[in-house]
Amino acid sequence: MQNYPSQQALIHEKLRSVFGFTSFRPNQESIVTSVLNKKDVFAVMPTGGGKSLCYQLPATIMQGTAIIISPLIALMKDQVDAALASGITAAYLNSSLSPKEMGGVLSSLENGEITILYIAPERFAMPQFIDTLKNIPVSFVAVDEAHCISEWGHDFRPDYLGLSSIKELFPSVPVAAFTATATLKVQGDIITRLNLHEPHSIRASFNRPNLFYQVERKTDSKKQLLEFIGRHPNESGIIYRTTRDAVMETSEFLKAHGVSALPYHAGLTTEERSRNQEAFSRDETPVIVATIAFGMGIDKSNVRFVVHADLPKNIEAYYQETGRAGRDGAPADCLLLYGRGDIPKIRYFIDQIQNDAERAIALEKLNQMSGYASHNVCRRRRLLAFFGESYEKDNCVSCDICCGGVEQTDITVDSQILMSAISRTGQRFGAGHIADIVTGADTKRVRELRHNELKTYGAGRHKDKIYWRELADELVAQEALRLEGGRYPIVTLTQKGNDILFGKRSISAIRKDKARPASRHGQTGGEYGAALFEKLRKLRRHLALSQQVPPYVIFSDKTLYEMCRSFPVSMNDMAKVSGVGEMKLRKYGQAFLDEITQHSNTQTERPDR
Ligand code: ADP
Ligand code: MG
Ligand code: ZN
Repeated sequence: MQNYPSQQALIHEKLRSVFGFTSFRPNQESIVTSVLNKKDVFAVMPTGGGKSLCYQLPATIMQGTAIIISPLIALMKDQVDAALASGITAAYLNSSLSPKEMGGVLSSLENGEITILYIAPERFAMPQFIDTLKNIPVSFVAVDEAHCISEWGHDFRPDYLGLSSIKELFPSVPVAAFTATATLKVQGDIITRLNLHEPHSIRASFNRPNLFYQVERKTDSKKQLLEFIGRHPNESGIIYRTTRDAVMETSEFLKAHGVSALPYHAGLTTEERSRNQEAFSRDETPVIVATIAFGMGIDKSNVRFVVHADLPKNIEAYYQETGRAGRDGAPADCLLLYGRGDIPKIRYFIDQIQNDAERAIALEKLNQMSGYASHNVCRRRRLLAFFGESYEKDNCVSCDICCGGVEQTDITVDSQILMSAISRTGQRFGAGHIADIVTGADTKRVRELRHNELKTYGAGRHKDKIYWRELADELVAQEALRLEGGRYPIVTLTQKGNDILFGKRSISAIRKDKARPASRHGQTGGEYGAALFEKLRKLRRHLALSQQVPPYVIFSDKTLYEMCRSFPVSMNDMAKVSGVGEMKLRKYGQAFLDEITQHSNTQTERPDR
């Protein structure tokens, strides 16, 4: 660090020269600094938050080799290729290597030629490998996808348990753990199991500002899918379906309609799966139709849309799956097709659960999910609330609710009928009984409590009981009503509810019969010159193919957009584009510059020439 006035100046310089970025994303700088200062780190950052840089950058500064533990052998090569493309000497060790390749990596490791070494967790259980590590300087250990160590997490891997011994074996080596999913319970588990010592802990915001969330009422899902994909020509996307059969059916249907799509589910052979995943990852096939088996650790940064053609079983899964869109930070779309018919299908599976408590939890989660899809609350606010995070802005400007993509209907009068019944019965009953009162139902309980004598008895006869139950759900979601008590909750009025009841404010909801598609503002390529973007994409694919790496490893979509927008005319300009570090400038700068120059020539060409 001799030539830099401060550590801070040095890391900013590396950020620019190695990665080509001008500024850190939230929390990256403090994490990098902690690793450099040999502190343990625990970080929860959303997918696309830029976790890799948090360990790659310090690795380029510190003496010795950084060991990165990564769960998926299939992805290690891509991770290494990405590091190599930025000029970082990286390698991986896993069971896919031949003995000869393995020997090569080990000897480079012993010669101190490797800055970053990716390994699978099981390697930590191999005494021989530990011996090797003991004989080389290790700068730090990073555990990626650290939630795999916790049984409470949704991707528990027994192999990860062996990582508990890192601190025992290497007491003076700092350990940094990263994950995108951690409830507080999982968080505690990770810290204990890895024996992290007073870690610098980060819980980043889960907000993904570049994702546009929308829910469309499912009418004809096939037609809706085709229309949606039609609005995203040439863009990469994932379509999630619940069952293997549905995956096959949808991918066949899309193919028959001229959309290049491949299936992915656990019923395919390992070979088929990795072939399809690779075709998707390398931009050979834009669309992949998949079950939830597809996803963890897919680092493809230019997924431009994620569609759920069936209702996911809970909000956490929905958040993780949509999170695979837009890792590069450029705009991406998340569409959920929602039909009431999805609920009985999931209920069927839930009903099979033997354990009462588990079944109740699954049901509660399903209710939250259908609430997300059907209520008139900013989608982003609701997702964040699920993670215990409050969203400050009134309008997120990137969801169908906030963008007016859904038609609103005034529900003040009906809400007053419902709330009047709640208020007149002393705010002591559940939504079911209240719905009985307003529909004028002749039940034993109504008669016993003499609720048939209330003024509101039967005031809502014009609609059925289901309508009033759903209205109560809607009012809870909009915080006009509150649910109190556990198993059989009663509904009470909030301040907002009182204001509505007494006519001080009005309230509206999504009109369920008339939801129409919204979309993020402007097509991704459009505003930056779609024609040039296409040419750059082609060039990127060509280069990627010849080097046997995924295209996003060369430049991200975001970097290409920026080239289209800023129109670099010299290598100097090119160096200023975000995502163009020194190594990539040297390797690819000229080729992209030539393409841009050629494009601008065709633009200015005179017709009479
Ligand atoms: P995560 O592992 O947290 O999901 P990645 O490390 O894969 O995220 O990073 C996602 C994308 O963000 C990558 O394309 C990466 O190059 C980009 N990125 C990371 N840090 C920055 C930054 N400071 N500025 C711009 N882009 C960044
Ligand atoms: Mg990652
Ligand atoms: Zn919103």
